[in-house]
Amino acid sequence: MPATADVKTHSTLQTLPGDDIRQLLWRFSDRYDLAMLVQSARTVARGPVARLVATGARNSHEWTPAKASLLPAFDESGITAAFLDPQHGGFIEGPKNLALALIAFELAWVDAGAATCSLAGNLGLAPIHERGTPLQRDLYMTLAAPPKPGENRKQIRAAFALTEPIPFVGVETGILAGKVRIAEWEEGKEPLLNVEKRGRFITNMSFANVVTAAVDSDDSRFKGSCMIILEEGDPGTWDRGTPTKKLVHQLSSTRDPVLNVRVPAHRIVGGYSVKDGVIVPRYSNSEIIEAVFRRTRVTVGLMTSAKLLSAVEPVIMYQRRRFRGGEGAPGTPRYELGLQQKEDTLHRLVDVWATGEASAALGFAAARLFDELDPLERQKDALLASKQLTGRAAFKALAAMNTDALEYLGLAAKSPDRRDETRFSELKANGLVQFVILDSLANVLCPACKLWNTGHGANMMREAVSLMGGYGVTEDCPGFLGQKWMDAQLEATYEGPEAVQRLQLSITMTNELFLAQYRQWIAEMNRIASERPGTGACTLASAMRLWLWTLNHLQTATDADGARLYHKSRQSVTFPLADALCWLLAARQFILDVIELDEKGRTNPALAEVLPGFVNFFTDLCHVQSARAAGEAGRICAELVHGYNRHAGWDEAGCHACYSAEELTSLEGIIPGIDGSARAYGDVAEANETHPLKAGPCVHFEGLEDFVRLRLKLDGCLTGARLAKDRAAGALTKVMMPEALDYPV
Ligand SMILES: Cc1cc2nc3c(=O)[nH]c(=O)nc-3n(C[C@H](O)[C@H](O)[C@H](O)COP(=O)(O)OP(=O)(O)OC[C@H]3O[C@@H](n4cnc5c(N)ncnc54)[C@H](O)[C@@H]3O)c2cc1C
Repeated sequence: MPATADVKTHSTLQTLPGDDIRQLLWRFSDRYDLAMLVQSARTVARGPVARLVATGARNSHEWTPAKASLLPAFDESGITAAFLDPQHGGFIEGPKNLALALIAFELAWVDAGAATCSLAGNLGLAPIHERGTPLQRDLYMTLAAPPKPGENRKQIRAAFALTEPIPFVGVETGILAGKVRIAEWEEGKEPLLNVEKRGRFITNMSFANVVTAAVDSDDSRFKGSCMIILEEGDPGTWDRGTPTKKLVHQLSSTRDPVLNVRVPAHRIVGGYSVKDGVIVPRYSNSEIIEAVFRRTRVTVGLMTSAKLLSAVEPVIMYQRRRFRGGEGAPGTPRYELGLQQKEDTLHRLVDVWATGEASAALGFAAARLFDELDPLERQKDALLASKQLTGRAAFKALAAMNTDALEYLGLAAKSPDRRDETRFSELKANGLVQFVILDSLANVLCPACKLWNTGHGANMMREAVSLMGGYGVTEDCPGFLGQKWMDAQLEATYEGPEAVQRLQLSITMTNELFLAQYRQWIAEMNRIASERPGTGACTLASAMRLWLWTLNHLQTATDADGARLYHKSRQSVTFPLADALCWLLAARQFILDVIELDEKGRTNPALAEVLPGFVNFFTDLCHVQSARAAGEAGRICAELVHGYNRHAGWDEAGCHACYSAEELTSLEGIIPGIDGSARAYGDVAEANETHPLKAGPCVHFEGLEDFVRLRLKLDGCLTGARLAKDRAAGALTKVMMPEALDYPV
């Protein structure tokens, strides 16, 4: 019996999803602390933040007193301290990736500049948090906590300075112009360093009193690059620089600072050692930024998801009221539905909503994954440190765990009665094995959600804006959708633009540990497809298989000139394949979340009435999204597989790849799957010899039979996807709406 059989099939969405539904989807229904944090962040977002936007605070790129009033609001609501551990003045025990993701989501629901203003402080502290010495962590984290009543001290507000004026650091983080030199080094004393750093586009720079700066050595007695902590008040120049004339995120401060200060060597993030008279930082610039960005990029991805989901309510309200008044009377379709009488407006909004759900699903899954990974990473660091393994040696030690990790994954996929339980338990208890498995996922999910949520999300925000007509591009647009569209482009750019994420994915998505899990996910989607066909899991499983086939093929295939296809310099191959994967990952996670909602929601009697409606509606959205993802992945894979072969027919009499209906009939039996014939594609050549145009074979299918078969199957799997979209569109015409948006208030 399908798991959804007892979900009343006629039930549909009654209201927009509230916190009870979101908590189940994003797996924090058992975290009271996070539920409270969401409420606090929402109060700030829909109160002071929304009022600033509504009163035009975004119209200036200066950091005004009105904008600065957000900082105490963040402090008082707990947003600032959420980043900190309890011993440093925070209130959340353990990893905080999900907590920070939820804050970003809530703030960006109204304005992502406000979210950035809060998160950039965390980003500034993150090098110290991730790689600082215990002393550095204790000092700076404690001072970053808002002072308690009666406590008289200056609070630290941090900024992160990596990007430099052109032509230096941007996407290429290694080309550093910022320099560190030894200014004084008296015998037996701590060295004093001179640090020169010019920044470009540095967030929080109007008020930051601590900057973590990326610099390179300009001194033979200092080895390599590092990050270093600079404080306002250090001897030298602390010029905050000119404000950036941003078109986006105007509720955050961005400037091009000029910093030239003298600091003691103990400010090097992570500390240093002295070898043969040379200062050797424990961590290079790149080691630190890698540790930092892999976490913070997830929250950025979620900002764009929040925008998409925040668009649903204002768009429906606009559509319903569009033709109210005039000759329409209550009760008539024109009065009640307005623009919602037009199918296209509904279908486009379904696309926006489905994208928002899938991207939020992916982003929150990545945030939860980092919460799981954090303690394992600390364990791994401690273990490697105890064995004095660093750099290449540490890398080799971790790589050696891959065999065990693959064995564990194999055992985990079997039922307990069919596996060696002793070995399974042993591998499960091995922190390093578990670390390398989760790490391989994190290395894919983080860039995937930064890339897809923000890049594709920005495209879909344009769709949302278009649904508001002319209003969409005015400051008065309900939900501030026009500003959110533009803001999404910044989210796709800062903390590494799309190219950086694609670059990373092109490497991490070929990791055998990731691929072993990916294969299991295909089987998982097949299983789900038989239990819940309405989710579109079958389509997705077919697309996932097609992607895997394409990856394997491209890794050994060459183009028509014999040049390798899967190569780091061939971004036109690796980047689109990375994009295709992101579509699949987001759709998969959305399906998993909806199953979670169904299963856990049934245990909550308070949801009994509404749950079937939500599950049915979200199941339809999953189907819509899976079909779209499969279509995108299929298109990309087909272009890559066929697109690098030369077209034999062109030289002679034009293209003959397109056959008439009659010709197609004559080819029946050749294309696998059309009539179930097992004849191979090599036969196309034969068929073309008798082709009326006698142009010779123009389609090169040899060796690609499996691909073509998979692609055909994929198309067939789209069955029902548009019916699901029709149902979801219908639900949008019936869902109950509040009288007014709950912001600005
Ligand atoms: C409002 C705002 C706030 C910011 N806040 C901060 C901050 O707080 N701290 C900080 O350090 N930085 C900050 N930044 C900087 C931001 O992170 C960079 O702008 C971003 O990383 C891109 O660098 P770039 O602008 O120099 O682009 P470039 O490096 O010039 O790249 C431009 C484009 O070229 C292409 N490209 C470049 N290199 C490659 C490649 N290897 N392969 C393929 N394509 C490539 C890509 O399409 C890329 O988008 C901020 C930026 C803005 C706009």
